[in-house]
Amino acid sequence: MAQGRSGIRGSRIGSGPMGEAERGDLAPRKAVSFWCGNGHHTQPSFAIEAEVPETWDCPRCGLPAGQDRDDVPVAPGSARYMTHLGYVRQRRSQEDGEILLNEALARLRGTL
Ligand SMILES: [Zn+2]
Repeated sequence: MAQGRSGIRGSRIGSGPMGEAERGDLAPRKAVSFWCGNGHHTQPSFAIEAEVPETWDCPRCGLPAGQDRDDVPVAPGSARYMTHLGYVRQRRSQEDGEILLNEALARLRGTL
């Protein structure tokens, strides 16, 4: 559905042949947070110039984890798996949609 909409666009760091003199332990690192469908948080660190993957296997349960905790990737083969939080959010968005729809209808009828 929303593939490729992960916000890492534009963050590519141009790494050229220059600047490779200092490699190894001194390489700066960045910690990136990932959340899996079970709500586990893991924070692997990557070299600054490394390309951060969109998903990361949760070290605790093995599910794919994503950088957006509100939109964790769904593990292939377990599409029916839904966390309690995900279930609540889905219900809420349905209710929100109903409210928005009613508002729009009311506006159309000129009752607002
Ligand atoms: Zn997990």
